[in-house]
Amino acid sequence: MSTNPPDLRPDLAPAARVSDRPRRGQPTIGMVSLGCPKALVDSERILTRLRAEGYGISPDYAGADAVIVNTCGFLDSAKAESLDAIGEALTENGKVIVTGCLGAEPDYIRTHHPRILAVTGPHQYEQVLDAVHGAVPPDPDPFVDLLPASGVRLTPRHFSYLKISEGCNHKCRFCIIPAMRGKLASRPAHAVLREAEKLVESGVRELLVISQDTSAYGLDRKHDLHPWKGGEIRSHITDLSRELGRLGAWVRLHYVYPYPHVRNLIPLMADPDNRLLPYLDIPFQHAHPDTLKRMARPAAAAKTLDEIAAWRATCPDLTLRSTFIVGYPGETEAEFQTLLDWLDEAQLDRVGCFKYENVDGARSNTLPDHVPDEVKQDRWDRFMAKAQDISAAKLAARVGTTCQAIVDEVDADAATCRTMADAPEIDGNLFIDDGHETLKPGDIVTVEVDEAGDYDLWGRIV
Ligand code: SF4
Repeated sequence: MSTNPPDLRPDLAPAARVSDRPRRGQPTIGMVSLGCPKALVDSERILTRLRAEGYGISPDYAGADAVIVNTCGFLDSAKAESLDAIGEALTENGKVIVTGCLGAEPDYIRTHHPRILAVTGPHQYEQVLDAVHGAVPPDPDPFVDLLPASGVRLTPRHFSYLKISEGCNHKCRFCIIPAMRGKLASRPAHAVLREAEKLVESGVRELLVISQDTSAYGLDRKHDLHPWKGGEIRSHITDLSRELGRLGAWVRLHYVYPYPHVRNLIPLMADPDNRLLPYLDIPFQHAHPDTLKRMARPAAAAKTLDEIAAWRATCPDLTLRSTFIVGYPGETEAEFQTLLDWLDEAQLDRVGCFKYENVDGARSNTLPDHVPDEVKQDRWDRFMAKAQDISAAKLAARVGTTCQAIVDEVDADAATCRTMADAPEIDGNLFIDDGHETLKPGDIVTVEVDEAGDYDLWGRIV
């Protein structure tokens, strides 16, 4: 295969930094990227999205379930090279999707290569992804992939995931990501920003920043400097978030590990001129120090409560979402009770909870004292009941307030929207069922909240 840059910009990332060893059964795509730096950015964007959806990226034809050829059609010689590349991919792999500049001439391509699966033109990212989904259906693995399963099916144009790094330097016992994805490998700050800028230019109104460990971004690069807009930018999450927040779209941070420097993000969230949303998705996992120790999580829960209080003092509108594991091996009733008490105090806005289960290859599998299934279920029920009470009380307090909401879908009955406090697919919704007919997905409207449920809100446009 001619070139294939997972970290794609040869000018910016001469050595491949990202290990893309596919897991067993993982759908895997190859990419042949021809042409100019702009085409490379497009390829990078497609691969970023595919990786986020759980696809593996193959460096050769043999390991790929299908191959995308991103073509160039600028000169005749470039056209000929593109046709040759398509021919080679067909011979070596057989399942080929063509995109890029030459994709603007589908008949010309099909005359030479009738067996190709699909042709899309330049910048038609969604169509390329649809073609990949059709040729090689996604098979997301909730233990290692970053997007909710439903995120793979739904690709609205007005929000987009932006992957800033791969891998993780932690060694949490229940997690196989470091073994599968390797150590932290961050993309250069200006490559991320350029991709984000293109997304915003193409109509994206909300960027969802993802990685395995967002707050560690750039650590592996020793926070190196890159040219950006006449100055320089550090590959550091504070600098990256500040610049992303200046692009005009909402910016939402996911998977933020509670390092001390996270507190430097909070003033940006409170700054009305920056679009970094006052929203932090922080996977706390548990609150009892002994459970956290058995999980090999470095955070101490007591300090986390102090940190949360300090964040809220700086940014009172901050929404905190987190995920937890109940029934971890050795979790006693007292440890679980500590978690419930902690939740009472932390008053998190959005909470997800998993019942612990063994994952092939995880070190926690061999821990003693696994918790019986019925106890896990009981703890999950109690945890979710408390989380629901907290959520309902917080949402009830929003009745009568005004806020901004982004429109996701419009049908005859209502517009389904989200406030700044709601990430797509994992949090709640705000519904507008009056005067919604003229709204379009991606519109941002000001709404007065007039009704609240356990997880969702209803409102009217003001
Ligand atoms: S920090 Fe997250 S990705 Fe890293 S090992 Fe722990 S659970 Fe896995």
